[in-house]
Amino acid sequence: MAARTPFVAGNWKMNLLLADAVALAEGLMPLVASSAGVEIAVCPTYTTLHAVGKALAGSNIQLGAQNAYVKESGAYTGEISPRMLMDVGCSWTIIGHSERRHILGEDDAFLNEKTRFALASGLNVMFCIGELLEERKSGAMNAVLERQLTRGLDGLDAELARVVVAYEPVWAIGTGETATPDQAEEAHVFVRSVIASMFGEAAAAAIRIQYGGSVKPDNAAELISRENVDGFLVGGAALKADSFAAIVNACAQ
Ligand code: PEP
Repeated sequence: MAARTPFVAGNWKMNLLLADAVALAEGLMPLVASSAGVEIAVCPTYTTLHAVGKALAGSNIQLGAQNAYVKESGAYTGEISPRMLMDVGCSWTIIGHSERRHILGEDDAFLNEKTRFALASGLNVMFCIGELLEERKSGAMNAVLERQLTRGLDGLDAELARVVVAYEPVWAIGTGETATPDQAEEAHVFVRSVIASMFGEAAAAAIRIQYGGSVKPDNAAELISRENVDGFLVGGAALKADSFAAIVNACAQ
């Protein structure tokens, strides 16, 4: 197990109405209350953030958003600012999830702007990267990851300490197909080498790299045993308290 504190976050995506979201948070708290040596967050929908944040108050589970815009306020219909997210208790936001890159068309430059603005506003950022299946098959995986990192994290300096990179191969998200521990480790080693070339060896050694893509209770322990896997970003399995707690507890030390 690496010296970095593992970080396990649940991405609830566009799921759960208010009562179910609060019930999930309430069900999760006792299951992870004594999980030591692991950082935990959940990222509910905007409409449930406030209530889930209130339910989680005083617990060891942090609150995160799934996205954040690049302005503090104003005429940006449908958007939400980092400050608004912090106002309801968020300390984290996801930026660059593959569903936003590929379904909503967010590009590297926009994601860089979002990352910089979220960090400058005081949020911590889970910055997602990952290759498509055809990019992996054609041997372009490293070039894709390098492009996403160099463009997405361009211009950061000391704020990098508040960034976690989530490596999420797109072919493994929501498909039931998980990267093998060897595939995850290989990608994470590459990510760390890109971070080293951008920010230096110390920053590369310190940054946490989550794996995401069909993480389940039965594959979490083997994945987290790899030197460069520092936790998980979990989608489907985060929607059930017992499966998310089992993943958290696979990372507890
Ligand atoms: C995700 O959405 O970040 C994710 C990894 O989803 P899943 O765990 O369902 O593959």
